Amino acid sequence: MATQTSKNDTKYIPQFGAFLKAKCPRCRRGNMFANSMYNLTGQNMYQRCPHCGLTFEREPGYFYVAMYVSYAMNVAEMVTITVATIILTGSESPWLYLGLLLGSILVLAPFNLRFSRLILLYWMTPGAKYRPELSGDLPHNHEQHMHQH
Ligand SMILES: [Zn+2]
Repeated sequence: MATQTSKNDTKYIPQFGAFLKAKCPRCRRGNMFANSMYNLTGQNMYQRCPHCGLTFEREPGYFYVAMYVSYAMNVAEMVTITVATIILTGSESPWLYLGLLLGSILVLAPFNLRFSRLILLYWMTPGAKYRPELSGDLPHNHEQHMHQH
């Protein structure tokens, strides 16, 4: 057990890294999802943060709001893909665009689901603000040392 890395005092975890790794918005330590983004069993989201105990679904049906975020992400992605295809291929075949868009909807669906909920909790949820004091090792729930780099 590494004792010299961090004691149980406050340590600041940058927001963007925690966001990309799908960590809890309040402590930025616990994982929000129990498995990886792409797997056959679908996404398994924890009800509560395994580190600080924050309930992710702030109220019943809360993640319906994330569907609107997901919809906006979809539109942005479709526009990006269409523009990129025009620039890269200059093609005028509607089938190319249709195929690319349908394919990317399927491929990006897990990504959109995960990150729409993350965006909702990170930037649109008043009760889930970052509390750096929860980033340290909590006495009751000892996570294994998750120190990268
Ligand atoms: Zn947490």
